[in-house]
Amino acid sequence: MDPEFQPDLQALTRALSLLCEGPTAALAQALPHSLPQVGVTSTQAIEWLAPHVLNGAARLDSPLAAAHMDPPTPWISWATAQWNASLNQNLLHPATAPAARQLEQQVVGWLAPYFGMRGGHMTPGSTLANLTALWAARECAGVTEVIASDTAHLSIAKAAHILGLKLRQIPTTPTGAMIEDALPSDLSRSALVLTAGTTSTGAIDPLALGGRAAWTHVDAAWAGPMRLTRHSDRLDGIEKADSVAVSAHKWLFQPKESALIFFKDVDKAHGAITMGGAYLAAPNVGILGSHGAMAIPLLATLMAWGRDGMAERIERCIYVAETIANHVNHDDRLQLLAWPVTGVVNWRPKDISLFDAWHQSLPREMVSTTTLRGERWFRNVVANPMANALAITEAISAVHL
Ligand SMILES: *Cc1c(COP(=O)(O)O)cnc(C)c1O
Repeated sequence: MDPEFQPDLQALTRALSLLCEGPTAALAQALPHSLPQVGVTSTQAIEWLAPHVLNGAARLDSPLAAAHMDPPTPWISWATAQWNASLNQNLLHPATAPAARQLEQQVVGWLAPYFGMRGGHMTPGSTLANLTALWAARECAGVTEVIASDTAHLSIAKAAHILGLKLRQIPTTPTGAMIEDALPSDLSRSALVLTAGTTSTGAIDPLALGGRAAWTHVDAAWAGPMRLTRHSDRLDGIEKADSVAVSAHKWLFQPKESALIFFKDVDKAHGAITMGGAYLAAPNVGILGSHGAMAIPLLATLMAWGRDGMAERIERCIYVAETIANHVNHDDRLQLLAWPVTGVVNWRPKDISLFDAWHQSLPREMVSTTTLRGERWFRNVVANPMANALAITEAISAVHL
């Protein structure tokens, strides 16, 4: 028996307590420059790496963390991700993952109806979910071009490029939503991509356009989970789509890499993107070969919290975003781009020459920046249910220039 493959409860507990203690006092010792000939042992490697990994990481659960789409993750996802790492199920092979394949279908089945979809599968991110959707669109609907707004995520351009489809960009409103009237009238060979929550401003394209093109895909990577909340109606129309992408490692609080691609006609779509292989007991659906059971942490979280618990946390994020927007509206020095609809707030000093000075004065974890029509804006993305609205607005008030 090789002890390195056996559970060492004491060492595992030590690794966990290092994580839970937060930043360690230990100073980071330099790592070996090249692959060490002789290992330092697993217990030593953990001590050695702790200051590098743990002290070096951004704290996504801090009261001020509101800059990116990356959420803190609940402990149940750590526990189940550890199960995954240990069991190392491969969903490609039913024989190595009999339960995990079913659990993935279970969690897909729980979520698909919120989007008016009938099934789908998991991918490691929405970049791949979008590519999968447009691959299905090409096969099922014979589309020759992708139409998306000029604020669509870059993964849409990547997918069009990979699939050999033309990309046509549609202009957007000042807040980043597709201008409906700028669409071509003939969409019979087009995959229309509508974004539900753009990356820069959180804008929602007119989702009622679904069904007008040969294929409609909604990129709901960011805002899709709002379908579980009392703000669900902001995404009305999403159910008209042929496919929907949602990143679970954004607003469903999952560890990376976790996302979903949903299809309305799932049998047809999966059929079009499935390949067999001599060594495969089950046909291989989608882009991935070997892949793990990212469904299990998601299933565990949804089971632990229920729809209500998930909704409540997303709604809290939306409340924090609205509180920031309200504060900016009442600060004479600042300008708000638009009232936030999906937890993304954009604002800037009215005196643009002070932008960099503002940036330097604000806590780093609190804002990111984005460029809209050539102008820079601050961007808060509230993916952190523990973001503290008061602490954030006080940090804004405390800037004196
Ligand atoms: C984040 C994002 C993506 C890409 O998703 P990943 O999970 O990062 O691959 C696609 N579209 C939108 C609108 C996004 O915000």
